[in-house]
Amino acid sequence: MVKPKPGTPPNAECEGCGQPFFAWPYRLKSGRGRFCSFKCAANRPERKTPAAVRFWRYVDKRGPGECWNWTGYIGQHGYGTLTCPDDPAFVRTAHTLSYEIHHARPPKGLFVCHRCNNRRCVNPAHLYLGTPSQNQLDRRAAGNDNGGERNGRAKLTDEQFRKISADTRPGAIVAKEFGVSRHYVYQIRGRATARARLLNTGEEPVPAN
Ligand SMILES: [Zn+2]
Ligand SMILES: [Zn+2]
Repeated sequence: MVKPKPGTPPNAECEGCGQPFFAWPYRLKSGRGRFCSFKCAANRPERKTPAAVRFWRYVDKRGPGECWNWTGYIGQHGYGTLTCPDDPAFVRTAHTLSYEIHHARPPKGLFVCHRCNNRRCVNPAHLYLGTPSQNQLDRRAAGNDNGGERNGRAKLTDEQFRKISADTRPGAIVAKEFGVSRHYVYQIRGRATARARLLNTGEEPVPAN
């Protein structure tokens, strides 16, 4: 969104926080420009229904053993999301919210994983708490991940990935030995380092790709 020049006098009053603010005239003309910020807009009275109630509006609830697919917004990551203005996270993933509604809020560092490997699913019976690596392994086991040996375009086996990420020789030498480009070697090493940092373990990192 284009921001007005600093010092532009306010011409509207926020319906949320009551503060005067500047709204683009074209927005006021069409009945928009009611709120000073996304936060105030999300807090509007018509959105005041608790998240635990709004949650069910977007669930295709089926039998206890079936997947309950999220019918609301699906984020780029493939998980359903719900905007929760009262929550510090603001936007929650639907399956995490489901876990919280049926069990408890997951403790820090743990993730809500899917037994069914269907990211849209919010059936509490299909959800469990796991570490980030479990999350990754599960997805791989189901062939749901783009990575690993199952990837049709993968030139390397998981074993070769591990060797490359652990190899400290210059990239050009490693690249020649494995028959890949030097750039690819750097990429693998970069990902492995990032992943090791994420997991914060001393173990040899398993490359994410
Ligand atoms: Zn406001
Ligand atoms: Zn499921």
